[in-house]
Amino acid sequence: MASSSTANDQTNGKRARVPISALPLPPTSHSLIHALTPDPYTPSPAAWRDTRTDRPSLQRRARLLAPEAHFSYVAPCPVAFPYRVEYSEDADGEAQVRAVEDWMVAREALREVPVAAGQGGGRLRKYVSEKRDEERVLIGLAETGWRDCVPHLDVGDAFELLGNPSLSVPAGQDAGAGASDASEEAVAARKELIDVLSGHAMLMHGEGEDVQTHWAPWSLRYSGHQFGTWAGQLGDGRAISLLSTPHPDQPDIHYELQLKGAGRTPFSRMADGLAVLRSSIREFLCSEAMHALGIPTTRSLALISLPKLPVERERVEYACVLTRIAPSFIRIGSFEGLNPPAQMFFLGGGQQPSNLDALRVLGEWVARRVLQLPDIRWRGEPGLGGPGDAWGTKLVLEVARRNAKMVAGWQVYGFMHGVINTDNVSIMGLTIDYGPYAFMDVFDSWHICNHSDAEGRYAYKYQPAVIIHALRSLLNSLAPIIGAEDSLGGKAVSPGWAEDASEDKIKEWSKRGIELVKEEMERVAEETCAVEYGRLMHKRLGLRRIDKDDESKLARPLLTIMEDHKLDFHGTFRRLCFFRPSIASSEDDLKAFIDSLLTLTSEPERLDRIRAQTDWSGWLRRYAARIESERDLWGADADVDAEREREAKLANPRFVLRQWVLEEVIKKVETDAESGKRILRKVLHMACNPYEAWGAEGQTQDESQLDTETREERRYCSMGERKLLGFQCSCSS
Ligand code: AMP
Ligand code: MG
Repeated sequence: MASSSTANDQTNGKRARVPISALPLPPTSHSLIHALTPDPYTPSPAAWRDTRTDRPSLQRRARLLAPEAHFSYVAPCPVAFPYRVEYSEDADGEAQVRAVEDWMVAREALREVPVAAGQGGGRLRKYVSEKRDEERVLIGLAETGWRDCVPHLDVGDAFELLGNPSLSVPAGQDAGAGASDASEEAVAARKELIDVLSGHAMLMHGEGEDVQTHWAPWSLRYSGHQFGTWAGQLGDGRAISLLSTPHPDQPDIHYELQLKGAGRTPFSRMADGLAVLRSSIREFLCSEAMHALGIPTTRSLALISLPKLPVERERVEYACVLTRIAPSFIRIGSFEGLNPPAQMFFLGGGQQPSNLDALRVLGEWVARRVLQLPDIRWRGEPGLGGPGDAWGTKLVLEVARRNAKMVAGWQVYGFMHGVINTDNVSIMGLTIDYGPYAFMDVFDSWHICNHSDAEGRYAYKYQPAVIIHALRSLLNSLAPIIGAEDSLGGKAVSPGWAEDASEDKIKEWSKRGIELVKEEMERVAEETCAVEYGRLMHKRLGLRRIDKDDESKLARPLLTIMEDHKLDFHGTFRRLCFFRPSIASSEDDLKAFIDSLLTLTSEPERLDRIRAQTDWSGWLRRYAARIESERDLWGADADVDAEREREAKLANPRFVLRQWVLEEVIKKVETDAESGKRILRKVLHMACNPYEAWGAEGQTQDESQLDTETREERRYCSMGERKLLGFQCSCSS
């Protein structure tokens, strides 16, 4: 178990760390806010700062963004909503409006305060508001997300403050946690981190002539199809990006730090821009769990609760701000917003007309800077006189490939997203926006994890098809560009490319674009998904060679047995790691092994033991023969059984973030944050190391011989109470 001090020491000394205010910013060419088009109301960080001293409501009032714009500058401001502004009874309309603006000005982070002294200091300045001093409690910091994405960030004594990970701290008894004898510098770095990541303090730079050096937080608008229906502009109503920073060892990768739940943005519609503790804990844990399973995902950094800020959902809950990290949070819906489906009637937030030049700008940005597509010569590159090379088709195919890989990972690991609306499908093929997701308990290919998805649109079985459906929306949006590129003989479209085009011409391009790419896109997605599914399934089965009938003879029948006999999905895979071909040649051993598999049924009283024995013995004999058939691939001297077990265990988690585990952790943190955060830390640690033999796996049956912590680990690895199996989340978020 990594103690809090080792977490810091491991990298301390090796790497220069800086407080959050001094994180290096990307060069202008790689900076989203300098490359894409801002809200014309607040065209630059400097102009936006002036707005905030006078008419801050502009950044909180629900509105459609101008068609050519991609994002709006907006400051974090986690306060209760609806806002309660008091003004005198006899104030006239103008005075009322002024009172609202003044109320908001007082809550804007406008007063400059010193930044934590770091090595050298950065360009950003730090601001706080006069009126807000919300209580903010760090309850989680993801060591893995931090180490992988922002290892140059000084988190000070934050890990010491969280206390050692433990499942067995009784509530109210948390001796030792929170104590820290850290240096002044470390304390300052931690405080600044919490202030900035809770939305209390804001970092920006809007001084001086050179606007290319200006920086401020921003929110990206997007639209999308929800449950198959066009919904217009709907996001991002509660995510605010603070900055992006190049990875110190891989300068081509820039990580964006984004707050979820730090208050309203211009895209919040009628909602509060806030998030509650329960949904934030769910996203915080699962992002890192998915990464540990090798599934592409956005990452977590920090979780800060605001225990005095009530949030009205089905019941009153309390606010929490999650910091998540990804190279980009752009979604399919970001493209759809710039070229919405024509003449769609819908109820909802609203819709701008399409803006095909904004679409080009976003597309070029994504193709070049986010996906970094190879073998494309870009307009303006040295030596290239005219337009650059076409990129539209390549962009769509790359997004298809990435999302197909991602969904294959979901299927193999029994992950269900729950809300695969086009605005929740990342352009990078990252799992994004964790809501009512779930991992499969008892295998049921029809399982629906989202309580609100009555028709099962996003059921486990349909996930790959739904991803392809979302990709079609991306293609529909980009089709006019692809068609136009075709008419230019493979050259890119230029700025202002569609200005003089008639509607008929644009329709013709769109039609052509779809004709050119649709079939290939679907084929690429299906094939990539099938290949990745096969590759990962082989890892789970501990096989090295890929035979073409493995899917029909081994993988599918295995899932059928699980489904027929109501067996736990992850438990069964983990148990199979311990299988050896020799077991199949002894009737007694085989029966004993099958009996151990059958303990994984959720309905022992309804189990047809005879049929289950027959099904399993047939399958296990085939599996044994299949393992034997590749013995020569393991090397002459290898202890194949042991090696295979070791390898298979590295693909089959012992610990899974099950619904019941999440429910329990959430309840514990809600009840007592002090002990809760140590449990949270331990669960995160288990989720990040899911293949370890937690809870003395395979050792004694007699639990009284285990210490309390080990016993708890064992319980956290179990299927849990029956009533929570297949639990559907209707998460208020
Ligand atoms: P989801 O279906 O959870 O992906 O949400 C779709 C969009 O609704 C998000 O991108 C947000 O912009 C918006 N949204 C959800 N909850 C809130 C909230 N509490 N406040 C403001 N916007 C929200
Ligand atoms: Mg979403």
